[in-house]
Amino acid sequence: LIRFDKVTKRFGSNTVLDDLDFTVAPGKHVTLIGPSGSGKTTILRLLMTLVKPDEGTIRVDGEYLTHEEKGGRLVPAGEKHTREIRKKIGMVFQQFNLFPNMKVLQNITEAPVHVLGLGRDEAEERARELVELVGLTECLDRYPTQLSGGQQQRVAIARALAMRPQVLLLDEVTSALDPELVAGVLDLLRDIAHTTDITMLCVTHEMGFARDISDDVLMFDAGRVIESGPPEKIFSEPENERTREFLSAVL
Ligand code: ATP
Repeated sequence: LIRFDKVTKRFGSNTVLDDLDFTVAPGKHVTLIGPSGSGKTTILRLLMTLVKPDEGTIRVDGEYLTHEEKGGRLVPAGEKHTREIRKKIGMVFQQFNLFPNMKVLQNITEAPVHVLGLGRDEAEERARELVELVGLTECLDRYPTQLSGGQQQRVAIARALAMRPQVLLLDEVTSALDPELVAGVLDLLRDIAHTTDITMLCVTHEMGFARDISDDVLMFDAGRVIESGPPEKIFSEPENERTREFLSAVL
């Protein structure tokens, strides 16, 4: 469903991703781990088209994200093409990024109404179901500032799911939470991972969570995947010295 081919991304003279190849098959849950600055978040930002690759191509569901095929050649994609593919992807950020001036219900219905063109009634019905799924029925009429960090992150998860994305990107979604709120959000994401067929690509420092939900773990260092495999292998018998060092520092 997601395919990076020879993707290089530089910021000035800093090569953040270096000739990177990887794929995520439909319905799989893949976790990116590795030291700070190794390029993990940049991968999610590329998929959200918040940044563009300098070299290489990214495909989502078989279609090029930032390119279009014209007359058998790849050319830079127009806005419309990229926007259509982006609809297949939902993202949850570290800092929740809710709309502060909208109540919970409107935070969730806004994009389905304005981006997908859903009727307001249908969008609200979908939002109410999702709010129930994330356990916040009593908070529908509150503003984000009237919620705890954990509740805000649940709303952000509901908001992402409201677009019915094929892929959910999770960027260190518990890093900004008070420790006692982390487990509830991770339990919700475990439920979603185990009960839906949504494809997930997660950046996380929560190794227990990574172990529970991942089909595959990719270990990054300096913009490259240095080791990958199922979590039982990566966490119990890592082969690469850098992976061993990293895990002994974080586990
Ligand atoms: P962390 O675990 O700390 O979030 P990460 O592996 O997700 O790290 P990235 O956020 O992808 O790493 O960043 C990789 C490198 O790219 C870092 O050195 C960072 O400073 C640099 N970088 C990221 N975004 C930009 C930007 N917009 N402009 C310049 N440099 C950037």
